[in-house]
Amino acid sequence: MEKNCVFCKIIAGEIPSAKVYEDEKVLAFLDIAPFNFGHTLVIPKEHCHCFTAIPADTLAAMMSAAQRLAIAVMRATGAPAYNLLMNNGQVAGQEVPHAHLHIIPRFVDDPVSFRAPQKHYEGNAIAEFAAKIQERLARQSAQ
Ligand code: AMP
Repeated sequence: MEKNCVFCKIIAGEIPSAKVYEDEKVLAFLDIAPFNFGHTLVIPKEHCHCFTAIPADTLAAMMSAAQRLAIAVMRATGAPAYNLLMNNGQVAGQEVPHAHLHIIPRFVDDPVSFRAPQKHYEGNAIAEFAAKIQERLARQSAQ
């Protein structure tokens, strides 16, 4: 448990939440300021500041719960679609520094949007970026 972490306080029961799911490693509850009603947050019980800090077994448990929860959220809200969203780092819009996966039910013509202007690679840049990322992955595997 991390002192001053709002989600750790929810896990500890020090702050109330509208809990929808819990197991040994994972907790899910409704977002207090939802994009649409039923907007759910799935979090690891262990304090991890972002996606890459979550241990693999906990991440697997989170994803397995999220898959079941996405179906339940759609059925409960009547939403025909949903977004999965994870902001990692302040620059990416993460406000609560305890990793969390948003499940956001979506409705026809709702005002929610995660679209931004998209860039275009020039020349060989796409292959160069792919090569750089592959090289980094190979280095990580060797560590
Ligand atoms: P993010 O911007 O990805 O860090 O999202 C943090 C989310 O946590 C926001 O959507 C907040 O509305 C939500 N949130 C913050 N405090 C609480 C709380 N006490 N209970 C439920 N959701 C919360």
